[in-house]
Amino acid sequence: MRKPVIAGNWKMYKLLGEAVETALALKPLVANANHCEVVIAPVFTALKTVCDRLEGSNIKVAAQNCSTEQRHGAQTGEVSADMIKDVGASHVIVGHSERRQFYGERDEAVNLKAIACLNFGLTAIVCVGENLAERESGRDETVVETQLSGALEGLTVSDMERIIIAYEPVWAIGTGQTATPEQAQAMHRYIRRTLENLQGKTVAEQTRILYGGSVKPENIKGLMVQPDIDGTLVGGASLDAESFAGIVNYK
Ligand code: PEP
Repeated sequence: MRKPVIAGNWKMYKLLGEAVETALALKPLVANANHCEVVIAPVFTALKTVCDRLEGSNIKVAAQNCSTEQRHGAQTGEVSADMIKDVGASHVIVGHSERRQFYGERDEAVNLKAIACLNFGLTAIVCVGENLAERESGRDETVVETQLSGALEGLTVSDMERIIIAYEPVWAIGTGQTATPEQAQAMHRYIRRTLENLQGKTVAEQTRILYGGSVKPENIKGLMVQPDIDGTLVGGASLDAESFAGIVNYK
């Protein structure tokens, strides 16, 4: 019922030529991946070119961030959701832990960004996840629940059709320390229960919840067999076309 999503977050890597090269190398490697949606998220400067070069393929393109502001205006350095839509992207990653950690992004901003995406017909990949101290002190579920309810504040049941949740425990991002499939499944199940409380049973059953944190071709299968894991958001291992294709083609 929930089509898996395999999304690659290229973070602040790749000059334009490298981004195009990786995108074009990926295209034939995932051309038969009908079992899932494939998304890549290059940096802003490569967004339009990558969108153009992937037109007609089964790879969708995401931005890694967008402005909280929906109206064009004096917002130096910001990029609005309609500008992202305008160049051909379909998704935006919002609330990534690196943005929360290094740029002070809070749940209120994540919420405004998700709303901006929805208003311009984009799908928002909303990231949540606890850090190590929060997990070790037993606050992981509370933290994730607060992030979720903050990010989804005011959204309707129909808005939720274009929301994807990515659970990314901060301690597993870029560390090589993946959550075990059982740890990930436990939190995904908790997230689905929280979604049910916030938005009702149907939304909870239909919303895709991705796992992110040191996913590689070697560990994808064990994650994807978990009943509440509907795909992955991949950082490091998405930078190389073959490695990312190895994750996409996990079946
Ligand atoms: C990420 O940045 O979203 C991520 C999950 O990174 P990595 O796969 O490198 O841990």
